[in-house]
Amino acid sequence: MEKIRVLVWNENIHEKSSAEIGKIYPNGIHGAIAEGLLAYPDFEVTTATLDMPSCGLDDETLNQTDVLIWWSHVAHAKVPDEVAERVRQRVLDGMGFIVLHSSHLCKPFVKLMGTCCRSKWRENDERERVWVIEPAHPIARNLPEYIELDQEETYGERFEIPTPDELVFISWFAGGEVFRSGACWRRGLGKIFYFRPGHEAYPTYYRSDIRQILANAVDWAKPSQGPKPTLGQVKTPYESIRVVDHSDEFHP
Ligand code: ZN
Repeated sequence: MEKIRVLVWNENIHEKSSAEIGKIYPNGIHGAIAEGLLAYPDFEVTTATLDMPSCGLDDETLNQTDVLIWWSHVAHAKVPDEVAERVRQRVLDGMGFIVLHSSHLCKPFVKLMGTCCRSKWRENDERERVWVIEPAHPIARNLPEYIELDQEETYGERFEIPTPDELVFISWFAGGEVFRSGACWRRGLGKIFYFRPGHEAYPTYYRSDIRQILANAVDWAKPSQGPKPTLGQVKTPYESIRVVDHSDEFHP
């Protein structure tokens, strides 16, 4: 079986500008996420960061990517529009796109959603309980009924997203807020999953349950093996090119 090619992309700024966060993620958030995925033999995992030429997201790289995982926060605007458009187009063409935490405001996600994607937030070390509300969904595979993060950043509704095609997780926070924390959409031929936990000040991406969710999400978001659609003017009428074979008709 061919491996699923995963690219973990991170702006990689907090880890370098803050000694505290650099201590939590010495290899970057992308490094911690990649480490978790490498435990799964079905995945081939590479990483890219904002400081690379073309943000590490040139055509060649994206064409060899089955699923792109994205983490950004303070540098959404530093991703050039043409790079964001390239990512959007690849998703429409079938690449999976997993959007983490504060990346709900990254350019390609906002473009794909068509809404503002803002929410409310508070950094107050509050407890988060992530409830699995669709236990039969592939992204919920091997999870308990809920997972609990002792300290995370709080997000709250309203989250300005289009109604998800499938909602897998809802988070409750000790401060009283709730949030649609695991949401799926299809755009074109591509699948998109937004997952909320993962504030840079907490070691969230080392947790085995979070790593399980990301692995499940990669497997769910991988490109389908469906037919490539024919688009535009079709000069030959369908009926005339169809080979009609009645030889396997059922005769009692
Ligand atoms: Zn955050």
